[in-house]
Amino acid sequence: MGGRTVWLFGHQLSMKMPALVTMDRGRDTILIVKAASRAGWLAYHKQKIAFVYAAMAHFVEELRSDGYRVDYRTAETFDAGWTAHVAEWNPSEVCIHVPTEDRFRRMVLRWAAEDRPQNVKLFEESALFLVGESEWETLLPDGQQWRLDGVYRLLRQRFSILMDGKKPEGGKWNYDQDNRKPPKKGLQFEPALFFPPDECTKQVIEDVEQSFSDCPGRLDSFAWPVTRQQAAALLDHFLEHRLPTFGEYQDAMMTGNLFMSHSLLSAVINVGLLDPLEVIRKAEHAYREAKAPLAAVEGFIRQILGWREYVRGVYLRSMPEYAQLNALGHTNPLPSFYWTGETKMNCMHQVVTEVIQYSYSHHIQRLMVLGNFANLAGIRPQEVSDWFNQMYVDAYDWVVLPNVLGMALYADGGKMSSKPYISSGLYIDKMSDYCDGCAYDVRKRTGENACPFHSLYWHFIHRHQEKLSRNARMGQVVSAWKRMEEPTQAELLEQAEYVLDKLAGGEL
Ligand SMILES: Cc1cc2nc3c(=O)[nH]c(=O)nc-3n(C[C@H](O)[C@H](O)[C@H](O)COP(=O)(O)OP(=O)(O)OC[C@H]3O[C@@H](n4cnc5c(N)ncnc54)[C@H](O)[C@@H]3O)c2cc1C
Ligand code: SF4
Repeated sequence: MGGRTVWLFGHQLSMKMPALVTMDRGRDTILIVKAASRAGWLAYHKQKIAFVYAAMAHFVEELRSDGYRVDYRTAETFDAGWTAHVAEWNPSEVCIHVPTEDRFRRMVLRWAAEDRPQNVKLFEESALFLVGESEWETLLPDGQQWRLDGVYRLLRQRFSILMDGKKPEGGKWNYDQDNRKPPKKGLQFEPALFFPPDECTKQVIEDVEQSFSDCPGRLDSFAWPVTRQQAAALLDHFLEHRLPTFGEYQDAMMTGNLFMSHSLLSAVINVGLLDPLEVIRKAEHAYREAKAPLAAVEGFIRQILGWREYVRGVYLRSMPEYAQLNALGHTNPLPSFYWTGETKMNCMHQVVTEVIQYSYSHHIQRLMVLGNFANLAGIRPQEVSDWFNQMYVDAYDWVVLPNVLGMALYADGGKMSSKPYISSGLYIDKMSDYCDGCAYDVRKRTGENACPFHSLYWHFIHRHQEKLSRNARMGQVVSAWKRMEEPTQAELLEQAEYVLDKLAGGEL
C-alpha cells in the first residue's frame, strides 16, 4: 500500500486546503481529475471551462515544482479517475474536502458511505471560506428571519476588520449611502490588469474550442488570471489603482466600460487561487495606509466578508429544496436573447453581449438588468438560475442560487433578502447610459416604443400586490399602484400584455 491520496477538485486550488497542509510530501500523492462529466453538468460558457482547466493545469505545475507528487489525469467521470488512480497508486486512504455545491457534495458523501478498500477521510473546505460549515446552523437558525447585517457585523468583530475597539471604524457599519453615484459623461477608470494566455492556457483554449464547440460564449478575449501569482498581481493592482474609486460608482453601468472599478476577483477567489481573508486584510491595510477612502474599502470588504459568506450559509442551510423554489409562481420561458443578445432593449443587448464576450458582468448588471427583467417578465426561476450558472466564469451553484433565486428573483419569498430588487426603466436610466442608445423611449410608459420595463414593473406589482403589501419595504409602491386612476392602471396592464406578447413572439 502506498501513502495517502489528497484529492483536490478544480475549485479547490488552494495551498491552504486542510488535507494538503497536513500531508506527508515524501509519501502522499495529490490527485486531480479532469472529469469530462463535470464539464457536462450544464452547457457552460467556454471561458468558464477554459478558466478552470487552465487554473488546474497551472496549479499542477506549481505543485510539482514545489516538490509535490501529483497524479493529474483526465477521465470520463470522477469515479473512473479514482478507480484508475487507485489501480496505479494503491493509496491507504483518500482525503477529500466536501464541496459546498450540493450535487458534488452528495456524490462525495455517497463515496464516503460506500464500502471501498481505501478509507475515505473527509475534510471541510475551510480554506475557501471564513465561516466553518457547521456554524451556519447557529448563525442562520431555523424559524428566524435571516439577514446579512447580523452575520456581517459578527464577522467584522470576530476577525477584527475595520474595527475601532468595539465600534465600527468611522462609527458606521455600512457606507453604502456614499456608494451609489450615477455615471458621469467622460468618467474613466484605471483599467484592470489582464493576462494574455501563455502556451499552456493557449493549448487549453484550443482544446475547449474543439471539445466544447456547442457551448455558449467566445474565447478570443480570454484574459483571466490562472495562477496564484497572477491572482495576487490582480489583487495588488486593484488595491493600488482601482479600490479608491470602487465605492462611488459601484452601481453605475457604462456602455463600453464593462469592468469600471470592479475587482474581477470573484473567479480566482471561488477556485481558491486567492484567500478571501488575505484579500480582506489587504484591503483594510490600504485604508489604514490612507490609500483608499473608508466608504470604498468598507463597501468592498462587505461584499466578501459579508455577502460571499452569507450566501454560502443560506445555500448550505436551504438545499436541496432551495433549488426548486418559485414563490412568485413564474412560469414563462427564458427569452432566446439571453443567449444571443439580439433584442431592441439596449440595456439587455449591451449586458448579454458582454457576457457572451467576457463571461462577466458586474453586480448591478446581473441584478438590476438581467435579473430584474427576468423577474418582471415572469420567467421561471430555475431557467434563470441555470443560465447564470452556465454563463459566468465565477459561477458555482452555492453562489448562484441565493443571488439569483433569493436576491434577484425573490423566488424564496424573502428568505435571504428583505424585498424584491425590481425597478422600472427609470433606475436603469439613472444608473447607466444605456437608454440613450435604445430603440425604446425610457420616458414613455405606453405606446409602440415605450420602455418595456415600465409596464412590466406595474404588471408585476399588480399581480403580486397581495404578497407585496405584507412587505414593509414594498408597501409604498403597492399603495402608489392602488392610488392610480383605474384607466391609467388599465392602460399599463394592457401595455404589459402587449409587451409580453411581443416577448413570446421574439419581437422585443
Ligand atoms: C443575479 C446574480 C448572480 C450572481 N452570480 C454570481 C456568481 O455566479 N459568482 C459569484 O462569485 N458572484 C455572483 N454574484 C455576486 C456578484 O455579482 C459577483 O461576485 C461580482 O459581480 C463579481 O465581480 P467582481 O469580482 O468584479 O466583484 P466586485 O464588485 O469587485 O466585488 C468584490 C467581491 O465581492 C464578492 N461578492 C460581491 N457580491 C457578492 C454576492 N452578492 N455574493 C457573493 N459574493 C459577492 C465577490 O467575491 C467579488 O469578487 C451574483 C450576483 C447576482 C445579483
Ligand atoms: S429604454 Fe428601457 S429597454 Fe431601453 S435601455 Fe432604457 S431601460 Fe432598457
